[in-house]
Amino acid sequence: MAVVGPLSRIARLGRNICQNHRLIFNKISQRRGIASCIDPSHGLSDEQKEFQKVAFDFAANEMSPHMAEWDQKEVFPVETMRKAAQLGFGGIYVQPDVGGSGLSRLDTSIIFEALSTGCASTTAYISIHNMCAWMIDTFGNVDQREKFCPDLCSMEKFASYCLTEPGSGSDAASLLTSAQKKGDHYILNGSKAFISGGGDTDVYVVMCRTGGKGPKGISCLVVEKGTPGLSFGKKEKKVGWNSQPTRAVIFEDCAVPVANRLGEEGQGFSIAMKGLNGGRINIASCSLGAAHACVLLARDHLLVRKQFGETLANSQFLQFKLAEMATKLVTSRLLVRDAATALQQNRSDAVTLCSMAKLFATDECFNICNQALQMHGGYGYLKDYAVQQFVRDIRVHQILEGTNEVMRMIISRNLLTES
Ligand SMILES: Cc1cc2nc3c(=O)[nH]c(=O)nc-3n(C[C@H](O)[C@H](O)[C@H](O)COP(=O)(O)OP(=O)(O)OC[C@H]3O[C@@H](n4cnc5c(N)ncnc54)[C@H](O)[C@@H]3O)c2cc1C
Repeated sequence: MAVVGPLSRIARLGRNICQNHRLIFNKISQRRGIASCIDPSHGLSDEQKEFQKVAFDFAANEMSPHMAEWDQKEVFPVETMRKAAQLGFGGIYVQPDVGGSGLSRLDTSIIFEALSTGCASTTAYISIHNMCAWMIDTFGNVDQREKFCPDLCSMEKFASYCLTEPGSGSDAASLLTSAQKKGDHYILNGSKAFISGGGDTDVYVVMCRTGGKGPKGISCLVVEKGTPGLSFGKKEKKVGWNSQPTRAVIFEDCAVPVANRLGEEGQGFSIAMKGLNGGRINIASCSLGAAHACVLLARDHLLVRKQFGETLANSQFLQFKLAEMATKLVTSRLLVRDAATALQQNRSDAVTLCSMAKLFATDECFNICNQALQMHGGYGYLKDYAVQQFVRDIRVHQILEGTNEVMRMIISRNLLTES
């Protein structure tokens, strides 16, 4: 892969960031080092290792020291995300001519995994933002790409993905938000539920009904904050993902220019699903980062905590548990990276592999984090310890971007119908 401008920028800025102080999590793990068997840089090119290091350092220096505070005070860390965007992380797989970094799906996965070690919730929002920017870059016309993508890649503006509605979650194609064409505008009525970033973001990529029932009646519109008729529900109180707001997005006779439609009428559901294929890799990568952090936290705890006159690391039961966690982490990573490569190559098995990766990695990584909490005993349940936040933050990865039951539907449909 050729080195593009933003990538060189990633490396240059990263070297400066590395000089700064480090947080507790990394102090501990760097003193002992990352065990080679779970080293996430295995098999990567020199270039990939370089931007992976930049992302790890950014996570350690700019995210992890604030992770607990962002959670407890429910801070949406806009300025930190803009710093991440200066490294090229605002539009990682967006094309360079509109400000993106032009990297591959595998590169993107590597970056999100590393960033997540510093805060899985914030990284997950950055991943949704990247998905929206990619949708506009890929399905937008010249004017739309030039209008929206540069500000999204720099994270001067933030984006939200609006598919789910109060009455349509897993059955997303049954959505009801209507968009009636009147002259050169669509008039939107309806509401979207659970929208990440909702209310705090500037650009809403909205799936709405311009035609009849089913997926073919759905179109995709870009709605800008400030459009009359666009409003937001209350900020939801959540178990995790507290560094990003979640609100309903409401449309009441909201007039949106026809010029803001991505693709053709009726193409919206396909655009939404194509966005989600990458989204599933991204969210699975965020789970990998959390699990990676938790394996190291658990390892370090076992090495220092003494009970029954010896360290917990001497317990064969806990040794075996740690071995299983590491094995499941590496297995999950292999599957996620394979799916990312399949998606990049536009292979016929890509959609199914993305679903498998999302199902397997988000389930297994949640189990890893939960087991790490268990190994911490009562301390794991205290908010002073990062492990509980990783557990809370990645629980939702089993639910959104298609629940893990929906992933099973996609995989089994492929098995049963493809001959
Ligand atoms: C914190 C958070 C952030 C989110 N962010 C966004 C966002 O930015 N944009 C967006 O569009 N959406 C977002 N969502 C919504 C998310 O994608 C949905 O919650 C998810 O798709 C599930 O829909 P639902 O909640 O309506 O559950 P339901 O569809 O009602 O499902 C309930 C349960 O039943 C299961 N189920 C349903 N049908 C079947 C079946 N046929 N067979 C077996 N099991 C089934 C589901 O898997 C699930 O376990 C977010 C959700 C949360 C919690």
